[in-house]
Amino acid sequence: MAVREITYCGEAVLRRNTKKVLTIDDEVIRLVNDMRETMGPAAGMGLAAPQVGISSRVVTMWTDSEGEEITALINPRIVEQEGEEKSYEGCLSLPTLRGIVMRPSRVVVEAIDLEGEEFVMEGEGIMAHCIAHELDHLSGKLFIDRADPDSLVWMRPDEREESGVRYDPTTMDEAVEAFKRLIDQKRQRGDS
Ligand code: ZN
Repeated sequence: MAVREITYCGEAVLRRNTKKVLTIDDEVIRLVNDMRETMGPAAGMGLAAPQVGISSRVVTMWTDSEGEEITALINPRIVEQEGEEKSYEGCLSLPTLRGIVMRPSRVVVEAIDLEGEEFVMEGEGIMAHCIAHELDHLSGKLFIDRADPDSLVWMRPDEREESGVRYDPTTMDEAVEAFKRLIDQKRQRGDS
């Protein structure tokens, strides 16, 4: 297993429609294991394959409140959804940015697991938002495409705040520029 490098908003792979997994071979198993390991230290709630540079319909998600179980969803699709609610979202591919997004309040998703068995998963509230967010990645969508532009903020550590963080308002353009700089820094690291 290996921690893979996270792709950032602005990289082409995040905007591509992904390919369905046809056979669960060693490559897919390796991808899922690497995604699990990448999610751990990166501390996101979920991860989609394009976020590690792979254009496949694979998602990994924390699925219990104790944060012990990561479920892999292969070729997931939402088969039922209801309600609408707003919440702040973030994404490992748009680090420290937060924005308010409208999502279904309940979704039912069908997927296959690493053994190739079909399973059904239901999510409510934050879990439903997370499923919808991760499935968006599989069709090249990012949360900023859906976020209220006036709600965008940077989440920054700040010891003076009781919560340990403060929120600085930003704009879509400023955010896109900031991620461009991150990609440049990543390329420079890769070159040296
Ligand atoms: Zn994301």
